[in-house]
Amino acid sequence: MAIVVQKYGGSSVADVTRMKKVAERVMKTRAAGHDVVVVVSAMGDTTDDLLALAKQVSPNPDRRELDMLLTAGERIAMALLSMAIRELGGDAISFTGSQSGIITNDRHVDARIVEVRPFRVEDELARGKIVVVAGYQGVSYRREVTTLGRGGSDTTAVAMAAALGAEYCEICSDVDGVYTADPRVVSGARRIGTLSYEETQELAESGAKVLNAQAVEFAKEKGIAIYARATAGPLPGADPSADGTVVRRHPPRMPGTVVGVASERDVIVLHADKDILGLDILALLDEHRIAGKQLHQAGGRLTLVISRENLHEEARLRDALVARFGNAVRIDDQLGALSVVGAGINASFENVRRGSEALTAASIPPAGVSTSSFRITWTIDRSRLDDAVRLLHRTFIESQRPAVP
Ligand code: ADP
Ligand code: ASP
Ligand code: MG
Repeated sequence: MAIVVQKYGGSSVADVTRMKKVAERVMKTRAAGHDVVVVVSAMGDTTDDLLALAKQVSPNPDRRELDMLLTAGERIAMALLSMAIRELGGDAISFTGSQSGIITNDRHVDARIVEVRPFRVEDELARGKIVVVAGYQGVSYRREVTTLGRGGSDTTAVAMAAALGAEYCEICSDVDGVYTADPRVVSGARRIGTLSYEETQELAESGAKVLNAQAVEFAKEKGIAIYARATAGPLPGADPSADGTVVRRHPPRMPGTVVGVASERDVIVLHADKDILGLDILALLDEHRIAGKQLHQAGGRLTLVISRENLHEEARLRDALVARFGNAVRIDDQLGALSVVGAGINASFENVRRGSEALTAASIPPAGVSTSSFRITWTIDRSRLDDAVRLLHRTFIESQRPAVP
């Protein structure tokens, strides 16, 4: 029997009624003749709530203790889902990340999976069981419990799919696939039937929450097909791109086509003056285990975007920057990042010009712009981010019908 890995996100298991619906969908998959491994996220806003609780106790919560706390969310969900499946007559067993053999490095709060040893999962599948795995968590070589960064259940699912040689990895959510922009923000956003790994990775890194960037990186490395689908929708049929999004190796699209617009609201932008050494700042960030993106250094000046997603010790970071560099480092807390994504979109400067002109004409002047072969990112006033996403969606996508295939 082919193994299928299914991941259900937090909104899909937010309450007991939804949890039972998920159990029914798992049973249907089993009845269709598959061996099923289910990866589950914490219920609803549990992770946010646990984080808020930690912040009440400590403004800079210890990373190891945070992992101990946050992993509890998925542990609750896995046990309840396993019970719900058993209630429907399925033979389910739940495992934590550690029991499932998800081995990570020891970078608490945003650990990376280095190896999967799914022996217990394989044994239970061989016994005919449905295996429910707690997403978002692993164990380091030092036997410490770790978490994989926000949205990390997707990564657990893809890593499990790769380790088990699954036929595909289904990522089930409250949305029926990857859209040309967040459908909650852009009413005219359209579902994209097929995406390459590279396009999806860039969209995810630009803030499109529907798939986790590290999960896509993993899928690309191991050649795993990802089906992004609605939990409330049907199981994948003969053509899963007809009612969901299929991410796999695809022949290139016409170069220069913008496939999607994404934004990231919760960022801080760090600026450093000429008279300090940029490398010293990067060393300080490494000491604090903080990753940045869109690093730009020229003429001694440095600009860096830091995502707040996995930054839980911001107060400590700010204090350390002031103590070490004084006024030479400035943190801008008013900006957000706005990106358009597509292969070859920077072959000429046409797309950068078009986007910048549209933003300026709409009185959303870009504070900065950076490009790579797959992406253009503007930093703009955070309060205008949703307007800007709608604007660039109109400029690059709605004006370019027919739809992206
Ligand atoms: P889950 O809890 O299932 O992991 P997430 O909240 O992480 O779900 O991701 C799903 C959400 O991602 C959707 O509700 C949607 O608002 C948002 N989203 C942002 N960008 C996109 C996009 N390009 N396509 C689809 N959904 C998107
Ligand atoms: N529960 C975790 C989070 O909220 C992991 C996930 O949902 O993928 O980030
Ligand atoms: Mg998610």
